[in-house]
Amino acid sequence: MNLHKLILTNNACYKAGRTITPKGIMVHSTGANNPNLKRYVGPDDGLLGKNQYNNHWNQDKPDGRQVCVHGFIGKLADGSVATYQTLPWNMRGWHCGSGSKGSGNDTHIGFEICEDGLTDASYFSAVYKEAVELCVYLCKQYNLTEKDVICHCEGYKLGIASNHGDVMHWFPKHGKSMDTFRAEVGKLLVASGTEQPDASADEPAIFEQYRVRVSIATLNIRKGPGTDYGALGKYTGKGVFTIVEEADGAGASKWGLLKSYKKSRAGWISLDYTTKL
Ligand SMILES: [Zn+2]
Repeated sequence: MNLHKLILTNNACYKAGRTITPKGIMVHSTGANNPNLKRYVGPDDGLLGKNQYNNHWNQDKPDGRQVCVHGFIGKLADGSVATYQTLPWNMRGWHCGSGSKGSGNDTHIGFEICEDGLTDASYFSAVYKEAVELCVYLCKQYNLTEKDVICHCEGYKLGIASNHGDVMHWFPKHGKSMDTFRAEVGKLLVASGTEQPDASADEPAIFEQYRVRVSIATLNIRKGPGTDYGALGKYTGKGVFTIVEEADGAGASKWGLLKSYKKSRAGWISLDYTTKL
């Protein structure tokens, strides 16, 4: 999942500041042919691109409506697909209205997949995969299972959402359904084991990787964050490197994990010898 964060703090929903205990996830799609995240998420963070109409949802009432969701999946300016978190996950969103039995806004995290013309198979498969991964991430965080994942039209049938058809006007065009979606979420939950992250922490810290310049040739790479961890016997050399995690440890004010060691987690450098770019 290509997860970014831009909280829509100017939206009246965010300002209302109500929280929920998430009991499920509701998948939406926007119902408009515009796959670009910048239509909904702004201002431009350098990746989204500029919304020339300034009609994104980071304003009190976007398009005059009381509406806000926890996330969007769509295209960045460079055409790649990403997910943006746009509300704290445990904040009460305004994504599904209500039905005969109440409102899913009180119980469900809701995110939108930006629709395109609905016929592009490669765009669909990219956003579908991203949505599956987002649901897995949220299920783990809030102790949910794939059975807790529904779409807006299923919410309507359950009596907790307004009468909308999303996402079932789209998924079947590409041979998918909410059942295939749930099955894929379930499969990934099993594959990633039963270990649950600490659900008592409302918001995980989402670490934004960044790049640093190293200007000495002999910066040691260590197995862990500290001079008390062994050196790998390798040096970075001079150049630009991506840091994917930070940690405190002996011998430096901060240690950084190099992206190329992300999997093994055994490649740390002292950030004292780097300049953040
Ligand atoms: Zn919807």
